[in-house]
Amino acid sequence: MFSPSFCPKCGGPDLGQQIPPGDTHERLMCRGCGYIHYVNPKIIAGCIIEQDGKYLLCQRAIPPRPGTWTLPAGFMESGETTEEAALREVWEESGVRAEILSPYSIFSVPKISEVYIIFRALALEITGQFGPETMDYKFFAPEDIPWDKIYYPAIRQILERYIEERQAGVYGMYMGNDDSGKIHFMR
Ligand SMILES: [Zn+2]
Repeated sequence: MFSPSFCPKCGGPDLGQQIPPGDTHERLMCRGCGYIHYVNPKIIAGCIIEQDGKYLLCQRAIPPRPGTWTLPAGFMESGETTEEAALREVWEESGVRAEILSPYSIFSVPKISEVYIIFRALALEITGQFGPETMDYKFFAPEDIPWDKIYYPAIRQILERYIEERQAGVYGMYMGNDDSGKIHFMR
């Protein structure tokens, strides 16, 4: 994780880990001016988009792991809602204009300080134009999904569950974390 060597506020070099008064966590603090360097998790927002029983996946063109397939998802920007971030990522990575149906899954990866928020969404328009982070995009029938090329186990698990649920026509909501390796189910 990035830690500055100099205080971003006063430029001083006297930074050290300590628990600020009234706080519960150790933080990097400037002993010169009292600046506190907070490090908070990043949010990644994305969508499961199904059309006629096929599921939208994007093939990554850039590191990490170019060539692998994943759900369209990416880092939320400041000033966005999670829904806006998810739809923007879908647009950038697949050229699909979509609308959100409901939240579907929230899971945390505390080791790398990331939180994934995945929505169910509906494709409104498929333009065929996508950004440089994507090599290809495709709507896959379940039997054609390249499961072994979806790198991230939690993404595989979310998509598997969704496909099962679509057959039953009832969608749950999930939360979980990467440390247990399991996405938990709640209704
Ligand atoms: Zn300072």
